[in-house]
Amino acid sequence: MLVAVGSICHESNTFSLVKTDLKCFQEYELLLDEDILNYHREKNSELKGALEVAENQGIELVPTISASAIPSGPVTTVAFKFLEQNLLERIQKTKQQLEGILLFLHGAMVTEDLDDPEGYLLRRIREITGNAIPVGVTLDHHANVSPDMVKYADFLIGYRTHPHIDQSKVGQQAAHLMSFLMKNKIRPVMCMRKLPALLPGESSPKPRAKLVQRIKELERKEEILSASFFIGYSLADIKEVGSSVLVVAKKDEQLAQFETDRFAQLMWDMRHEFTLDAPTIDQGIDQALTSSDRPILFVDTGDCFWAGAAGDVPFFLRSFIRRKVKNAVIAAIVDPDAVDKCIEAGVDKSLTVKIGGKMDQINAKPVTVTGTVKVISEGKYWGKDFQFTEREIDMGPTVVFEVNGIDIILISQGASIHDPAMLRSLHIEPEDKKIIVLKDGLLNLITYKSVARKTLFFNSPGFANWDYSKRSYKKIPRPIFPLDDLNLSSWRKNQ
Ligand SMILES: [Zn+2]
Repeated sequence: MLVAVGSICHESNTFSLVKTDLKCFQEYELLLDEDILNYHREKNSELKGALEVAENQGIELVPTISASAIPSGPVTTVAFKFLEQNLLERIQKTKQQLEGILLFLHGAMVTEDLDDPEGYLLRRIREITGNAIPVGVTLDHHANVSPDMVKYADFLIGYRTHPHIDQSKVGQQAAHLMSFLMKNKIRPVMCMRKLPALLPGESSPKPRAKLVQRIKELERKEEILSASFFIGYSLADIKEVGSSVLVVAKKDEQLAQFETDRFAQLMWDMRHEFTLDAPTIDQGIDQALTSSDRPILFVDTGDCFWAGAAGDVPFFLRSFIRRKVKNAVIAAIVDPDAVDKCIEAGVDKSLTVKIGGKMDQINAKPVTVTGTVKVISEGKYWGKDFQFTEREIDMGPTVVFEVNGIDIILISQGASIHDPAMLRSLHIEPEDKKIIVLKDGLLNLITYKSVARKTLFFNSPGFANWDYSKRSYKKIPRPIFPLDDLNLSSWRKNQ
């Protein structure tokens, strides 16, 4: 049995001014054919999980393309066409032998001219293969699931964890399901319900645990093949935005609809519970300065480049200077221009430099500071990436610039910075520091678990700020929670 596998992943923040071009994929992951399998055997990825199942079930996987870039603004049309063409021509070439297609997508990509590129890709695949073979898809927890994705795929399965640590498990589940469908010649029924809700990408674990519990209950039923919920990705101004739930059943459409409705209601009833508690910057600094614990992690969620922000908002730097905070490290600010100036000056040299506010010119202005260059580095370190896989991570030329007891790590490009090994590679011992600012979301809950004494999340300025009311949405469906007064007991808007 031959199953084509492929992956095209991006989380596109339509409020970001930084476009995602082909170079962004080349820098993170852009592989074709056999290289894909070799690379993914070592990763905690969906493909790794699928490979393990395929080997046991006598399924041969035909690799096509595997592409992923760090979240950022919309993907350029040129880049998307390249990815699409490479996927489709490989499916076209093998279509006579294929018995199934398994794709690992993110589900929150937007391109310069497509709001639902995943739905579009699935439609194009159906144009090639027809309806003869099953097409299964795994999606990120932050997917904005669209009606077209449901229409053109046989099943969609989402991650259940955040931070996402279950990718290979989800890949295993998808491969098992694909094998079951192929062997039993079953074409399942899938039902999806979209909630009129924008929920925070970085969300509280408690309501999510209840939803995972419901998934387990549903999947114990003989007729139900899988169930998923999606927080969605609210930083996309598209009509497909928002949270959703879905159920895949063997053939009982009525049961699938009934359970999907019930699942949607459970999520809707908890809509107020997903938001994380966030102090103001002054409250956070007060808490840190009056505590004897160290280090305290300040999570700069608003400028997290893993949620599509630019990574160059110097909000914490400005606040620390204002509050005379010492012994802090800011990891990191993306500013290749400031890096160049520091490298030109040299180690131990003092200079005045403008930091940040060059890419995100909406939420930030550069800060002009005088300090000393402490470290100059190639910016490569060995550590865990966002999938918690060990690899060499490349931040581009990097410097540590010290201003009044604040170590500012200036990097040349967005990269995984979630591992404390990043600080140690720059001769900064995280446990010596009072405050560590990380441009991150929830990933540090795993990577900094043994280091941070306390973690505070800030709803800081940047393209990933959670304050929906400040975003100029034009295309999303209204009314929608929490922007509109939706005092509904049911998730159905029209009741
Ligand atoms: Zn995600």
